[in-house]
Amino acid sequence: MNQQQPPAPPPSKADVVIVGAGVAGISAAWFLNQAGLEVVVCEKGVVAGEQSGRNWGWCRQQGRDQAELPIVIESLNLWQQIADELETDIGFRREGSLYLCENDEEMARHDRFMAFAPDYGLATERLSRGHLEELIPGCPKRWQSALYTPDDARAEPSLAVPAMAAALRKRGTTVLENCAVEAIETANRQVSAVITEHGRIETPTVLVAAGAWSTFLLKACGIRLPQLTVKASVARTVPAPLIFNGNASGSQISFRRRLDGGYTIASSDYLEVFPSLTQLGFVKDFMPLIKTSFGKLKLRLPELSIDGDYKRQRTLNPVPSAATVARIRARLGDRVPAFDGIEIAEAWSGMIDALPDVVPVLDRAAGTGGLWISTGFSGHGFGIGPGAGKIMSELIQNNAVDHDLSRFRLSRFSDGSQLELGPAI
Ligand SMILES: Cc1cc2nc3c(=O)[nH]c(=O)nc-3n(C[C@H](O)[C@H](O)[C@H](O)COP(=O)(O)OP(=O)(O)OC[C@H]3O[C@@H](n4cnc5c(N)ncnc54)[C@H](O)[C@@H]3O)c2cc1C
Repeated sequence: MNQQQPPAPPPSKADVVIVGAGVAGISAAWFLNQAGLEVVVCEKGVVAGEQSGRNWGWCRQQGRDQAELPIVIESLNLWQQIADELETDIGFRREGSLYLCENDEEMARHDRFMAFAPDYGLATERLSRGHLEELIPGCPKRWQSALYTPDDARAEPSLAVPAMAAALRKRGTTVLENCAVEAIETANRQVSAVITEHGRIETPTVLVAAGAWSTFLLKACGIRLPQLTVKASVARTVPAPLIFNGNASGSQISFRRRLDGGYTIASSDYLEVFPSLTQLGFVKDFMPLIKTSFGKLKLRLPELSIDGDYKRQRTLNPVPSAATVARIRARLGDRVPAFDGIEIAEAWSGMIDALPDVVPVLDRAAGTGGLWISTGFSGHGFGIGPGAGKIMSELIQNNAVDHDLSRFRLSRFSDGSQLELGPAI
């Protein structure tokens, strides 16, 4: 009989322990490995089992928060370098992003981004109806114009981070699966070890990159991170006619060309929030976001909430929302006639780790030496992942970072700052 072997104990020591093998944790490990540090990544489930393997696969500079923009510009270059080094084709292609607009009012929503994007050298342009037709022959008439960033990219979430983890293992970094971190141990206000379900790892440095779970791990260290879990559902089609090779989004539907010739399809106007008791305490922090996103955020009872029991929910795998899948089905052929009758092959969902101002925390934890945080990417961390990973690697090594990180400080939630909302989830 093929009996499962008990997992091997983790290494007893490491320079850095990373909690979470999503894009944030694995990207940080990538650059720490390059710098020659001994890194152990602990993942309670499987590599990229949560958000990083379930997202739409947009690697987008377009529409970003101003503080994120220079980081994501660098990140896409890093994605390209990483993709070139990997043995697997992760589907990284610079095929562009389009925000499709039905009228002037929709186009005007992008004025804020267009006011600063050129300062960063980003080639984003407003396309007229004529130009849009050149890009998408037979483009449905309802789309009158579009915002277009030709060197935005796409990649396959199911392939990208697992391929990076496989390469890291070959390069000597330990990436452990089914290995939940249960506590971070400190001595004299300095990290001393990580306690995993399979043993203790002595280390002076921990990076919390635990996605939707970061709030619980940090709470146990006395750190308040107001974070909500927001369910977003997605579907993919079988191979379908090529209408645009990159990422495209209109008010009712989004689609992204896949490596397998199908499209990843979503409708971003239906998101469900599943607060746990801990997270109900954050409702006040989220009031500005709730007010601006009222139409699309649906509050749900806590049946799907997470509470910090890392072993009970090894991989968050929520049932896709029937309402979203029905919307996708109804809108597909209606919005994009070329997709009429195309079969939906699969639907799935993921839990987004939202912060009140929808930009992440990239910071150290004040008061505990050696404790670092990279989390709360609020629905757009896949594209920026390598950029954030490089930043965390430099910070951990005490090296200078070429980006202004003040917007991403943890203390913004406690120092009385007026939070400035980033672009929507
Ligand atoms: C439906 C959907 C669509 C999205 N679309 C896009 C998109 O098109 N473009 C984009 O840029 N972003 C997108 N995102 C957001 C993006 O996927 C995330 O921001 C990004 O993947 C976050 O990466 P992460 O590493 O921080 O978190 P995760 O990928 O969630 O990884 C965190 C990991 O930590 C592990 N973990 C947690 N606690 C512990 C513990 N105690 N011990 C050990 N391991 C632990 C978890 O199991 C998990 O694997 C989307 C997200 C969703 C859900």
